[in-house]
Amino acid sequence: MEYVLQTSGLTKMFGKKAAVSDLNMNVRQGDIYGFIGKNGAGKTTFIRMISGLARPSKGEIQLFESSDLVNQRKRTGTMIENPAVYPNMTARQNLYYYCRMLGLNPEGTIDEMLSLVGLTDTGKKKAKNFSLGMKQRLAIAVALLGDPEFLMLDEPINGLDPTGIKEVRELILRLNRERKITILISSHILGELSKIANRYGVINNGILVDEFSSQELTNRCAGELEVKVDNVQGAADVLSQNLNIQSFKIVDGNTIRIQKEINNAGQINMELAKNGILVSSSMVVGQDLEGYFMQLMNQPAINYQTV
Ligand code: ATP
Repeated sequence: MEYVLQTSGLTKMFGKKAAVSDLNMNVRQGDIYGFIGKNGAGKTTFIRMISGLARPSKGEIQLFESSDLVNQRKRTGTMIENPAVYPNMTARQNLYYYCRMLGLNPEGTIDEMLSLVGLTDTGKKKAKNFSLGMKQRLAIAVALLGDPEFLMLDEPINGLDPTGIKEVRELILRLNRERKITILISSHILGELSKIANRYGVINNGILVDEFSSQELTNRCAGELEVKVDNVQGAADVLSQNLNIQSFKIVDGNTIRIQKEINNAGQINMELAKNGILVSSSMVVGQDLEGYFMQLMNQPAINYQTV
């Protein structure tokens, strides 16, 4: 089996507005799939449709390469935004309650889950007195009951402090590596996802505007060589004619940014100088992930097919 989740043309209308529009997503077995979009982009609605909490207006869903969703959903676990943790119960009581509700034997399961999410030592402490990170980990433990092969986590790091973020991040990595669970994780913070995800889907206004691997993300965010010269037009001519470099942009009256050439600064500087262009500085500048994300959000959607 290659795919854990495939959607095709998945659409959810609320009145005349499409919260999710014609969305094709492919999550492969073993992926940590980062699902990125601003608030209101449609992430929760998408996850609700996959987990059976909302009915699609149009389109197809396959789980584990099957359309028998009733049965295949038993192999999935979901945590949607506001985690359903009971505030007046301890971690153990919460898990006991959910085990009962799901018809699972609490014996053994509860201790295993508490240890897995690092909440073994919380004793009599009620969930309302937990840190947000602990609450999230408890909610993830609830989603893990029933031993899912595919876990969907909606904004699990939303509102967490740096320690909480680190705890949840490490838990997700552990679940993926040690338990071989495929994970879909939604967030509006690309920088956070980039520490764990191997593939990404970007949603904007209900439309999946891009899907790419972590390697592609690294390439796209790779630095550019910024060269300051006394004659940008002359420098542009030298780049394109003498060095056959075509991917660069003139930023202002004395600045050029050159893509994909960060290791060639020496040669570029020499060639410019040889042609009478004075280079006053030359340095590598990076595009950070959030900058890249914002750029993606402002781009018109491309019609995206399968990767
Ligand atoms: P957030 O992180 O803020 O939840 P999101 O990406 O998960 O953002 P959704 O909650 O899926 O976004 O919402 C997508 C769009 O659909 C929003 O414009 C939202 O207002 C709208 N929407 C969601 N649920 C409903 C509903 N039940 N009725 C009408 N509109 C809805």
